[in-house]
Amino acid sequence: MQIGRVEIHLINDGAAWFDGGGAFGLVPRVVWEKLLPPDEFNRVPMNLYCLLIHSQGKNILIDTGLGDKLTDKQRHIFGLDRANGGLVEALARVGVTTEAIDVVVNTHLHADHCGGNTRFEGDEVVPTFPNAEYWIQRLEWADAAFPNERTRATYLPQNFLPLQATGQLRLLNGDTRVTADVRTVVTRGHTRSHQSVVIESEGETAFFTGDMATLAVHFERLAWVTAYDVEPLETIETKRRWQRWAVERDALIISAHDKQTPVARLRDTGEKMRLEPIKFK
Ligand SMILES: [Zn+2]
Repeated sequence: MQIGRVEIHLINDGAAWFDGGGAFGLVPRVVWEKLLPPDEFNRVPMNLYCLLIHSQGKNILIDTGLGDKLTDKQRHIFGLDRANGGLVEALARVGVTTEAIDVVVNTHLHADHCGGNTRFEGDEVVPTFPNAEYWIQRLEWADAAFPNERTRATYLPQNFLPLQATGQLRLLNGDTRVTADVRTVVTRGHTRSHQSVVIESEGETAFFTGDMATLAVHFERLAWVTAYDVEPLETIETKRRWQRWAVERDALIISAHDKQTPVARLRDTGEKMRLEPIKFK
């Protein structure tokens, strides 16, 4: 798909199942199960979206999914389905090799967004994208490198520490321009310095939310915040700001995990915000 002179591809690292209580937080199951029916373990289905961006001769990859370093037990817990392959195969289908990626941007360092940053080579863990710089917010790096009891389970050092050893890490201090048409913006709440990605070109706009909106409905409804968010009230204020921005610019909204509505446009009906699904390939 084209956003002005920028070409973007939605890349899927696979399908997985996540606890519904985690995804919907304080929203009662009797409300959310109508939208997304859970399985017998109370899990809801999600995709692991990454975004490939071609801009000004650069291949930019936003997020890297769960990756290939999972144990059999982890695969089982996530119910991981890679019937169509994972991230690397999905990139190959659009003609992009791991060597061709110039910049990897991680929205944050939770394991389902940076697991594909690195891979096993024998017993060693090495960067999956040998020629890429990995762009990560400095505060996110600090929170991940020194986790607490609540965040430890998802901040897995093997997904990010090897990047420092190879000199491929670039730490960002807030909003950062990637190319003339692509920039990262800090969207605080899910984590303290979670970032999203804005593409603006020739009057067209797209916004990759990351887990600021895990599912499309999280972008539409301010009060719907996942249980994983470390600063849920910040998430609400962040979304309030970006909702207004998205309506004004008629931006294409790309969510991190939504199988049913991965891409949509936000409309303000006067009474409420409503997402209109967009066909995307
Ligand atoms: Zn996520």
